[in-house]
Amino acid sequence: MKFKTIIEPFRIKTVEPIRQTTEAQRAVALAAAHYNIFLLRGEDVLIDLLTDSGTGAMSIYQWAGMMRGDETYAGARSFYAFDAAVRDITGFTHVIPTHQGRAAEHILSGAMLKSGDIVPNNRHFDTTRANFEARGASAMDIPIAEGHHPQALHPFKGNMDLAALERVLTENPGRVPLVMITVTNNSGGGQPVSMANIRGASAIARQHGVPFFLDACRFAENAWFIHTREAGYEDRTPIEIAREMFSLADGCTMSAKKDGMANIGGFLAMNDDALAQRCRNTLILTEGFPTYGGLAGYDLEAIAVGLYEALDPDYLRYRIRFVEYMAEKMTSAGIPMVRPAGGHALYLDAKAWLPHIPPSEYPGWALSLVLYLEGGIRACEIGSVMFGQQPDGSERPADLELVRLAFPRRVYTQSHMDYVCEVLLHVNSIAPRIRGVRIVEQPPALRHFTAKFEPLVRGVFA
Ligand SMILES: *Cc1c(COP(=O)(O)O)cnc(C)c1O
Repeated sequence: MKFKTIIEPFRIKTVEPIRQTTEAQRAVALAAAHYNIFLLRGEDVLIDLLTDSGTGAMSIYQWAGMMRGDETYAGARSFYAFDAAVRDITGFTHVIPTHQGRAAEHILSGAMLKSGDIVPNNRHFDTTRANFEARGASAMDIPIAEGHHPQALHPFKGNMDLAALERVLTENPGRVPLVMITVTNNSGGGQPVSMANIRGASAIARQHGVPFFLDACRFAENAWFIHTREAGYEDRTPIEIAREMFSLADGCTMSAKKDGMANIGGFLAMNDDALAQRCRNTLILTEGFPTYGGLAGYDLEAIAVGLYEALDPDYLRYRIRFVEYMAEKMTSAGIPMVRPAGGHALYLDAKAWLPHIPPSEYPGWALSLVLYLEGGIRACEIGSVMFGQQPDGSERPADLELVRLAFPRRVYTQSHMDYVCEVLLHVNSIAPRIRGVRIVEQPPALRHFTAKFEPLVRGVFA
């Protein structure tokens, strides 16, 4: 290409103002939220990088689709548009709409798993793990060795350890009803999985007669990484690559809040007729009739259009470059983060960045508070607050103390990101002064959403 500046491949037709706040206002908001960024009001946040899930901006074509939405209870035109799009891209014969990805996981696990089963995955997303474990199955993560190390470089760091997969299947005959691969590997940092790895896992699962599913939430971002990093795919388009990925699987679960470019929705898709029948029976009980499954007709239209937009090469080039750009700026400033950059998010390494704060004082949590206080940026701790609480009430530090900056799709511009970089550089300059936090009150599980905190040293905190 002649010019190297990668621009947002869209222009803005509707704007949503964001509100500037002063540091003093943010200090008040933070205290009112008991030093928990989940308890802040969205309006008090300037740049919200809490998640890329359901936070994207829809296109004029998606909004036009919403106007076409057919709200017929059974057999709506919008269902057939959705069904045709999913079948065109995935090739699966049965398409079952759900209100989110986790509903697809819930239905699939009900139809396939029983107590004592094992499901291997490169890395389970937390809702996937929780749904499998709720059936009494064990959710086994078998990433490649590099996947365990935040600083290890690998072009496909999301890959599954295929030797471990072979071993699990050989050693547990009859106990593995399902093999899954998550693309991209969200819990492992949004790292991609290669086509070779998907093909390998598929072949091993098939040899053992076990169905192989993709957790396809970021299938388009994964296809782009394959296009740019895997030999033999330079000349293949993202949609061709996506079709090949799906052709290696027997089905998939999907959250349309990610690469469906929609604000809500998901689906379950598969080839097995009998399994699809069982899933639809549950769908009717828990979600809705098989032609809407918990969604409005207009949601189905938005997803039908969004799935193709997620595969647009101009969009994907910009999307992946956007994250890389941030990563380059921060790496050159010496800010420690998980490398290489993933597809949808950056993960700051708070343990390396704030070595003076022990895990018992939650360095990642403290960092997320400082990002908000200093710059109005909301990011999410993935560390000892999220994972340190044990079922018996005891406390065990997490392996990593990360803070995730997740990027909503088509929402923020380059200047927003330059601002985020500037705030991070400033935070870097005051890092030695940042102090930890303590928990004042917490629920028995999933405490990060609602726990109340206190800075350990008032005033010195940032
Ligand atoms: C978001 C996500 C899910 C769950 O989807 P929801 O729509 O949030 O229920 C499952 N797997 C992965 C990899 C995800 O990122």
